[in-house]
Parts: sequence; C-alpha cells; structure tokens
Amino acid sequence: MIDHRRLGRELELFVSDPLAGAGLPIWLPAGAAARHAVEEYVRELERRAGYQHVYSPPLGKRELFERSGHLGYFAEDMFPPMRLSADDEFVLRPALCPHHALVFAARGRSYRELPLRIAELGGMYRAERSGVLGGLSRVRAISLNDAHNFCALEQVGEEVGEILRLIREAHAALGVRPAGFRLSLRGPGQRYVGDDAQWARAEELLRDALAGMAYAEAPGDAAFYGPKIDIQIVDAAGRESTLATVQLDFDKPERFDLSYTDRDGSRRRPVMVHRSLVGSMERLFAYLIEVHEGAFPAWYAPVQLAVLPVGPGQAAAAADLARRGEAAGLRVEVDADGSLGSRVRDAARRRVPYVAVVGAREAAGGRVALRLRDGRELDPMPVAAALELVTGVVAARSADLLPH
Ligand SMILES: [Zn+2]
Repeated sequence: MIDHRRLGRELELFVSDPLAGAGLPIWLPAGAAARHAVEEYVRELERRAGYQHVYSPPLGKRELFERSGHLGYFAEDMFPPMRLSADDEFVLRPALCPHHALVFAARGRSYRELPLRIAELGGMYRAERSGVLGGLSRVRAISLNDAHNFCALEQVGEEVGEILRLIREAHAALGVRPAGFRLSLRGPGQRYVGDDAQWARAEELLRDALAGMAYAEAPGDAAFYGPKIDIQIVDAAGRESTLATVQLDFDKPERFDLSYTDRDGSRRRPVMVHRSLVGSMERLFAYLIEVHEGAFPAWYAPVQLAVLPVGPGQAAAAADLARRGEAAGLRVEVDADGSLGSRVRDAARRRVPYVAVVGAREAAGGRVALRLRDGRELDPMPVAAALELVTGVVAARSADLLPH
C-alpha cells in the first residue's frame, strides 16, 4: 500500500527522529525544496488575489490567548503555559488568529480597506497525544497556510465565494482531488462562544455560498467560535481529514474590540473570516506524496532535471547544461558516478521528471536527449530547446511533462 511515511523515507523528503520528538518531523533538503516551491506558489496566488502577508511569532503571552478564548475553550489541545516569572507566562499558539486580530488593531481602519486580507504561512502547535501521531499527517508542530479576511457583514457572501474559487485554483495546480465539501455546524456536548442569532446568521451566509454545490452537513464539527465550510481529502488508507477551510467568526472581533470607520463616520465591527486554501504544509504533503506516489508535478519536484554524461568525455558539456538549467531557475543535479543504466534507474527511483543524457554525439553537436519520468524518450534536440521545454512546463505548473 502507498504510505507517505515509507515514500518520505525512500525519497528523503522528511525524517522523524525520536530524539527530536514524536510529531515533530524534520524536512530534509528534497522535501524542503518541494515545499518551498509550493509555498512560493501559494504566496503568489494570494498576492494576486489582494492578500497582504505578515510575520508573527509562534508564541505569545498567556493573556493574548485568554482574550482570544483559546485558553477557555481550546486549552486541552494546547501545550501547557511556560512560566518565565510570576507575571510573565507564555504559550505556544494553537492558531494564528489572535496575532492577526492585533494586525487589524495596529491602527485605525476605514471601510475603504475592507476586505482586509491578512495572510501568513506560520507556525502553531497542538498537544496531540503521542498515539495518534504519524509521519506528516498528524503532527504537533504545524505550518499553516492561513489568512484572516476582515469584512463588512455585507461583503461576507462574495468574499467566501472568492475564497472557494481560490481553493479550487490551488487544488487544481497541486493535483489535490477533494473528496467532498462539508458544512460543519454546532453539535451537542461541546462548548461554543457567541449567541444563537450570530450562529444562525453565519450558517445562513455559508449555506448561500454553497448553493448549487454538493455538500454534507457535519453537526459537532464547527470551530468553537463559528460554523465552517471544510474541504475534505481521503488518504491512501481511506482516512478522511480536512485540508482547506472557510470559517466565519463574529466572536473574535468582539473580544479584541475591532472596529472600522464606516462611510457615514460611525464605528462598525468587522466580521473575521478564517480561511486556509491548502491547509498545513504537513498534511498537504502527506496527501501529495501519496496521491502522486512521490512523482510530483515538475514545478515542485525536488530535482527537476538530472543530467547524465555518458562518459568522462562529456563531463564539461554536462556541467555546462546544468549551469544553464540553474540559470533558467531549474533545480538540476549532475550524476556522473556508475553505469549509465544504474543512473537512469536511480533517477527513475527518485521520480526525477526529466533526465538529460549527454553522449559524445550530443555533446559535439550542442544537443541533448531528454527522457521523461513516464518512460518516453525524445529525439536529441538543441540544449536551448530542451531547457525551454522544461522551463515552459514548470512555468505553466502543468501536470503533464510535455507542453500542450
Ligand atoms: Zn484563524
């Protein structure tokens, strides 16, 4: 069976070392290269959609999380506070929202700035029991693709619709195939903040955004501060989890006393929309490793082009090709050790999308023969044309290895 933990080890994407701690994986260079490409893509997508990125620390004063309600409603999932002195206690944050509320509050806000979309790919921590931890799918240190969109109430419907559109775009580029949409609602036996009218209003807005789409209702799966739309994935073992999410929150703007100046000069409270397009980098990659069986689309493959000189006589031509590939922005490796057959097999084992074989005839003619990961072999072509082909597929973020 496909298991991202086994593939992660074989492809040297990440490692879990008991000395570092369970649920605290370490990303190795190949995994980090793939993640970096995905992070850059998501930031660019968000920037084009009007998001502004910030940085905030993964821990904060106890009072911040008392104010946000996390210590009152969510403490079981948090690491215990760390005490520096009697009046100085810190907690590892379980969510980024409190810091982003402070970004909104950093200065006076006007209706002209709304929706104000504050994004961050930031660290947060959950005190998961050690029994449920495994690989990247359940971790204690989480790197979340997160944003908080502060809107006027009348903007919420359109904003949620736009977020759902961005989610579809990101999932198509990454090769994510959602298993379904879910409307997560309040349920019995759990604690929630906010009054019934707020919950009813938020639920109605989310139902409107989902109109015409197939979705299931999940009572009891709401956040403690509001209902949400969850986009579900299923892993190779058949386990379902949430990847992307859109959540409505009337409560945190109250708790942090957030307001903006409206057109008529009056103060109004914004609505806070919590959203993640692709979830945490950990859960996303647990899924992507399995769904692609390690063979990522070329644009986020750890090594995009492996250059194999047939013999020592082609070392200079291979080095030159690699330099030109790197200059064009590609991740390139030259492999000159061992028989050509074993190097071709090794590149295939590592799921390198493009292999460039440089023989004596190709080197002399300034040409190169590309082999694709799926077994196709292209006729020798000029080096510039080969690089253009690969960079074109990468720039288009195509799932195919040949341009259309
Ligand atoms: Zn949030």
